[in-house]
Amino acid sequence: MIPLVDLKREYAEVGPACLEAARRVAEQGAFILGAELERFERNFAEYCEAQHAIGVGNGGDALYLALRALGVGPGDEVVTPAWTFVATLDGITRCGAKPVLVDNAPGSFWPASEAYERALTPRTRAFLPVHLYGQPVDLAPLRELCDRKGIALVEDAAQAHGAPYRGKTVGSWGDAACFSFYPAKNLGAWGDGGAITTNRAELAERLRVLRNYGSPQKYVHLEVGLNSRLDPLQAAVLNVKLEHLDRWNQLRRGHAALYRELLQALPGLTVPKEQPWGGHVYHVFPVRHTERDALQQHLHAQGVGTVIHYPSPAHLLPAYKHLGHGPGAFPEAERCAKEVLSLPMFPQLTRDDVEQVATAVRGFSA
Ligand SMILES: *Cc1c(COP(=O)(O)O)cnc(C)c1O
Repeated sequence: MIPLVDLKREYAEVGPACLEAARRVAEQGAFILGAELERFERNFAEYCEAQHAIGVGNGGDALYLALRALGVGPGDEVVTPAWTFVATLDGITRCGAKPVLVDNAPGSFWPASEAYERALTPRTRAFLPVHLYGQPVDLAPLRELCDRKGIALVEDAAQAHGAPYRGKTVGSWGDAACFSFYPAKNLGAWGDGGAITTNRAELAERLRVLRNYGSPQKYVHLEVGLNSRLDPLQAAVLNVKLEHLDRWNQLRRGHAALYRELLQALPGLTVPKEQPWGGHVYHVFPVRHTERDALQQHLHAQGVGTVIHYPSPAHLLPAYKHLGHGPGAFPEAERCAKEVLSLPMFPQLTRDDVEQVATAVRGFSA
């Protein structure tokens, strides 16, 4: 049995060091905010080549808080892909703003920057591109466009910790970038967690206040915020794991290269192409197949774990019916939902595992 993700193998590698780090926090009784969290925020900001990192409760809150701190509110529009995890849209909706969806470029998992430009209206307040699957999107033209139009650029980097783009890592290009530390992400906590990176000091300050009940100091409340603080226990785990992230991302890239080599030229199957600017860190390895459901059944029968990321594009989810987009509104995203299938991908996969998965896939195509 080869699972999609096996966190037990990661535990075998770094679990004891994480336990030791968590024990130190527990012995000090320092469970909310404090030195361990501040240490992680410094480490993570430095890792992302950003000036500031603010630890929050989860990736969804990171998106909501970043947009809200940038002034996104009722009446505003935020342009974002139809092909993403629902949390991207929820961040916009929770601000009272409207997600304006754009479709993927033909045959691609990501919208072209021209699609963002075409979606601009006088109400557009921000672009929210998603580094989906671990591939950095083409940030330079979006950055240029946002600067020219005077709107904010927020990166949803929840699947792309450490992904390099044009000599700088994701998380340093936007006015803010949002990360999730959901356990199976490239950098995962032992529970929920998230962070926002930014180079803007005043934004960082506002985010620290917002995540803590609007409070810069005890019992002073400047605005209505929420409780969305990253736990020091999680920060301790993340401080340990961050040391391994570059190596783990390299391992993911190696597995992807081997998959690509072993899955060449199979009828009906498309392996994910890296964009010309590179930098993919393979949070997942999504193949496309015209007979996707049958392929998934075949792989499960062979003991290969797979997941569909995602069974529905955002605009066809019941939660977003109110946007009024029916089937056919975003055909590329809808085609992804019918064709994608994620194969096992995590750093601790062995060459033997990847070969076994590839053999099982080839067994279906033959
Ligand atoms: C995981 C994820 C999120 C949400 O993160 P949580 O920590 O689960 O709230 C947001 N956007 C994308 C693209 C994600 O993959």
